[in-house]
Amino acid sequence: MTTAENPRTAAVRDAPAVVLRGGTVLTMDAAGTVLRDADVLVVGERIAAVGPRLEVPEGTAEVDATDGIVMPGMIDTHRHMWQTAMRGYGADWTLTQYFVWNYLEHGRHFRPEDVYAGNLLSTLDSLEAGVTTSVDWSHGLQSVGHAEAALAALEETPGRWVLAYGNIHAAPWEWSASADFQAFARRVVDGGRTSLQMAFDVTGDPSFPEKAAFEVARDLGLPVTTHAGVWGATNDEGIRLMHEHGFMTPRTTYVHAATLSEDSYQRIAATGGSASVSSESESSCGQGYPSSWKLRRHGIPVSLSVDTSVWWSADAFSAMRATLSSDRAREHELAHAEGDTVTHIGLRAQDVVGWATRGGAEALGIADEVGSLEVGKRADVVLIKNDDSPTMFPVLNPYGHVVFQAQRGDVHTVLSNGRLVKHEHRLVDADLAKARAAIEDTVAHLESTLGAEGWAAGMTPDVPDTAVLDNPYTYTEYRDASTHQRG
Ligand SMILES: [Zn+2]
Repeated sequence: MTTAENPRTAAVRDAPAVVLRGGTVLTMDAAGTVLRDADVLVVGERIAAVGPRLEVPEGTAEVDATDGIVMPGMIDTHRHMWQTAMRGYGADWTLTQYFVWNYLEHGRHFRPEDVYAGNLLSTLDSLEAGVTTSVDWSHGLQSVGHAEAALAALEETPGRWVLAYGNIHAAPWEWSASADFQAFARRVVDGGRTSLQMAFDVTGDPSFPEKAAFEVARDLGLPVTTHAGVWGATNDEGIRLMHEHGFMTPRTTYVHAATLSEDSYQRIAATGGSASVSSESESSCGQGYPSSWKLRRHGIPVSLSVDTSVWWSADAFSAMRATLSSDRAREHELAHAEGDTVTHIGLRAQDVVGWATRGGAEALGIADEVGSLEVGKRADVVLIKNDDSPTMFPVLNPYGHVVFQAQRGDVHTVLSNGRLVKHEHRLVDADLAKARAAIEDTVAHLESTLGAEGWAAGMTPDVPDTAVLDNPYTYTEYRDASTHQRG
């Protein structure tokens, strides 16, 4: 860790309390309260007061939030942090090409230190963009050593990280049964520092081999997060099997939930789980049309996620924008098919800001702690303000401004659990040089392992003549008529 060199930053970092003065405050409370020219006072780890011209304790440091927007730290419920080590590499992939990369090529060659490098960069990437909570959907944990490395990176950086333990290189009923995994899980749960989930997918195999993994999750008290409704990979049979065996719970997260039948959406709605929508991902991958328009019709709670920066952006601004745009595009499209015109839009900017904050907190069961700016809650706070930008005035509709005008570079200040982690547009006490060195080592390792030709081909790969599209999971032979029967 380095010391903040900016004396103003050091003063705010070291103060016992911080007040953000004179901003437009999106509290994201249940009533949707918005306060103009208002303050947010943080004392220690918690929000002590929200309102106009607050009196503050002696020694409180002040951050001028004039012309800015103050909102809760954003929450991402599905991010493959380890893949940040190869940021942007797969910009032109399809889902099939990703499966080849992840299951058969580079994904196999990630060492524990490579998982560490990706996670370390991803935590800094998150905080810098105002994302103070993220689920690390860590499905490259080939050994508990890899998991230790993932955890080490998460615990090195301030922020609220959830390790969703997964391993695509072995069947979930195998890795979850191992004593190593279970000992690791118990230690993390008992440590109380990082939350834990189990991350695995359900293929729809009628023998339901994933049952054993769900039982382990239940025994350990861990929520399950699962890629559901992914065209060509997971489908209605997986949902039905989960439901009939009693494994669909309010703590279950259904990632994408895109290509599913009416019956599956009803099962999700009836059992109280939530969906994690990754609209940039669904728009370019082919899991199915971004599902928020359908989820809304069933009253299924929604949170947002960025999925992976091996392809797309890693900030919630992009996630909100992509979600609002895809949802509206669908609404128009459906109306046009009926010869109708949409004259009043259904999904509002306020709704997607809610999904990126409260929605995430509710999905993770931490809404009593974070997700809104209310007295007593943990101080995960973001100030969006950029006095040098012509895009940051006038702020007339603050929700609309967050979704369609602002971007990650406009994030001025971030507090995580009351701790200053970004100030005046720069990360505080973050060792970027260390993260950069770790990433360079990982990229060199993967490039040399794959060879120059393989490395180059990976960015624009041919689809090999294998059965990958039939069933991307290399740990099972299961085939289903709903997927393509090639090979
Ligand atoms: Zn994913």
